[in-house]
Amino acid sequence: MEDRSQPNARGASEPGPSGPVRALVVDDNPINRRVLRLMLRRLGCVIEDAMDGATAIEKVTERRFDLVFMDCEMPMMDGFEATRRIRRLAPPHNEVLVVATTAYVTHDDERRCYAAGMTGFLPKPLDRKALGEWMRARVPGFVERSQQFPCM
Ligand SMILES: [Mg+2]
Repeated sequence: MEDRSQPNARGASEPGPSGPVRALVVDDNPINRRVLRLMLRRLGCVIEDAMDGATAIEKVTERRFDLVFMDCEMPMMDGFEATRRIRRLAPPHNEVLVVATTAYVTHDDERRCYAAGMTGFLPKPLDRKALGEWMRARVPGFVERSQQFPCM
């Protein structure tokens, strides 16, 4: 019998529109990862994280996520390159929503995110209200799923 008191115990390898929204947080800064994880947990998501682009690609290749929060500025491989590589993966892995999280906020930067294959754009610093609004608008079934699996 499934233990509903611990939705995080469900493996991220179990995809499906019925479970909680699965998010991958990619950021080289541990504080940024932690802040975003906390906000997403309050929104009822199941979260994994990655500290660099290569790990993010590995995780997206191995399992299904509903969305990836991608830091644009990372050493070694930035978020733009990581997103381009995710888009070259086999379906359905290449179809994941990728949201750019960046301190850059000009229209050129936004265009650069979309040109790399990103789905959306959230300027840093992120706030929970804007994040919730974005998810309600852009993540299929988010409202129903977050009600079905309310935040702990
Ligand atoms: Mg960074």
